[in-house]
Amino acid sequence: MAEDYSNFVDLQEISDQVQNCRKCPLSETRKRAVPGEGPHDAKVMFIGEGPGRQEDLEGKPFVGRAGALLDEFLRSIGLDRKFVYITNIVKCRPSTRSLTGFSDQEAEKDRKPTGEEIASCTPYLKGQIKLIDPKIICTLGDTASRFILETYGLKPGIISRIHGRTYSANDVKIIPMYHPAAALYTADLKELMKKDFSKLAALLAQRTLNSR
Ligand code: URA
Ligand code: SF4
Repeated sequence: MAEDYSNFVDLQEISDQVQNCRKCPLSETRKRAVPGEGPHDAKVMFIGEGPGRQEDLEGKPFVGRAGALLDEFLRSIGLDRKFVYITNIVKCRPSTRSLTGFSDQEAEKDRKPTGEEIASCTPYLKGQIKLIDPKIICTLGDTASRFILETYGLKPGIISRIHGRTYSANDVKIIPMYHPAAALYTADLKELMKKDFSKLAALLAQRTLNSR
């Protein structure tokens, strides 16, 4: 991994830098940056793709409809959101407006972050992972799954094939999952995601993970 993420003193320093960051064009259209939130010693980290409309308004991750579904999945395995760290690949909302200069906010849609935006932003994510040192990383959706698997030297695959698998890298387990936004409209995906969360629950129940 590159070197420039390793010098952060703590998560607050990363949040402060994210709030003031102008490293990529998403800074020009964001309302609020969304560094992430959760305990600094969380065992489990959830990584999404990027803030959506509601997250951009509130400055917090997964507070819109996808977030409500994430909360539901967490509750289904008896895990409270306040015990996990939640963040995203990019910390500012990638919207169609940030590509086109389009100013009609009603027509503004979320989009995937570009490769350049991901490259600019992920030193913050890597710094967060290093400081939190989680036991399990759950990646939500294709963008996060691909980035994290590649970062750990693992081979990424399409999410419909790899979701719910447990990958081991160094001393962390990685579980790729579908993005909850995809499950909002597809009952089948919601069931698959519930199963993947039960795999997370089983992993958490193992003594080796509880003993740290
Ligand atoms: N989708 C994401 O990927 N992240 C959020 O924070 C909200 C929705
Ligand atoms: Fe900086 Fe990341 Fe926001 Fe781009 S998305 S401005 S790199 S914090």
